[in-house]
Amino acid sequence: MKFSYVNPTKIQFGQGQIASLSTLIPADQTVLVVYGGGSIKKNGVYDQVVTALADHNWIEFSGVGANPTIEVLDKAVAVAKEQSVDFILGVGGGSVIDGVKYIAAAATYEGEGWDILQGKHKVQTALPLGAVLTLPATGSESNAGSVVSKAATQEKLAFMAPAVQPKFAVMDPDVMKTLPQRQLVNGLVDAWVHTCEQYLTFDAGALVQDGYAEALLKALKTLGDNFANQDDAWRANLMWSANQALNGLIGAGVAQDWATHMIGHELTALYGVDHARSLAIIQPSLLRNQLDVKKAKLEKMGKNVFGLPESDDLAQRTIAAIEAFYHSLDVATQLTEHDGDKAKAVDTVVAQLEAHGMKALGENQAITLIKSREILEQAVA
Ligand code: NAP
Ligand code: FE
Repeated sequence: MKFSYVNPTKIQFGQGQIASLSTLIPADQTVLVVYGGGSIKKNGVYDQVVTALADHNWIEFSGVGANPTIEVLDKAVAVAKEQSVDFILGVGGGSVIDGVKYIAAAATYEGEGWDILQGKHKVQTALPLGAVLTLPATGSESNAGSVVSKAATQEKLAFMAPAVQPKFAVMDPDVMKTLPQRQLVNGLVDAWVHTCEQYLTFDAGALVQDGYAEALLKALKTLGDNFANQDDAWRANLMWSANQALNGLIGAGVAQDWATHMIGHELTALYGVDHARSLAIIQPSLLRNQLDVKKAKLEKMGKNVFGLPESDDLAQRTIAAIEAFYHSLDVATQLTEHDGDKAKAVDTVVAQLEAHGMKALGENQAITLIKSREILEQAVA
């Protein structure tokens, strides 16, 4: 095992923590507050932010939608540059926080912003940023990743840079009370798949990382099974699980997969499938396709997460249990959101993967375009 690990994001967790913004952001900084389509105006989060920033100079930018587009974000970049903003505060879910990371990086870059997503510009500097999380799912509030779409070309690409790691994340589970059930389910599934992407690979013997991943999967399974009984503890547990699933810890020093995410991003960009739902469509098919290399870990997950008994087909039954978990949450595991032509949909997704250089995905770089095609053949209805 070999790794370098640091997570410098300060977490302010618990009810009433939005008030701590007053001291989390230095008083002399001009702040750009960025948010989405307006949920924070309806549920009181906006008012709490305004109260906390009473002694700060701040301006705002709203309208960052789900799967944030560079077309919208570049308008915020222009505001940040024109107004000499010092600090950017994202108030929202993964889309707003990812968007803020892009804005922070692009605000210190003179070239085309899309260069950042294409890897042509390696982000070294960015404005400092912080997050008030309103939707637990992505872990974006305390990691260095960001996913941005380009509406004009129906593309969705990711970048990572330590410079865009949030300085702090305010996580008040009370803000989840207004989340639609669909978004809560999405959050749970996204966190589940994040954990799997770092755990369901080959067994590297990392007892701590594996044990922690299993604890997260068991917590998420329990929360899913108790979806109808949401209370303060349920919300706090989901918010913390989703954060811990993608803050770098369980992935330290172990093989990571991420092929489900890379293929899933294409489904969102092309067909508008919710991020989490794109993952539930791809993952079971991908696990079956990669059964040989993932067998030992699938068996371990079957035993330690689902409590399944030993059997020759334990790995297959673990995949079936994952699928059944999604179905229990009313999450589909087949893509139906295309124009009715399955062959064309498979061809289109494979062509986009090729255009994006996604030709050797997964922990062994074994998921070639041929394998992606096989996976999609089973995942598209
Ligand atoms: P989201 O796209 O940020 O938000 C989905 C919807 O939930 C929005 O319409 C938003 O409405 C609403 N919403 C948010 N908080 C709410 C609240 N408290 N009450 C009521 N409605 C609320 O969802 P997400 O799943 O968090 O983010 C998905 C994005 O993150 C995708 O683009 C995905 O690719 C990316 N992602 C990033 C990472 C990473 O590590 N950076 C990892 C996985 C996925 P408003 O706009 O009105 O607020
Ligand atoms: Fe995700």
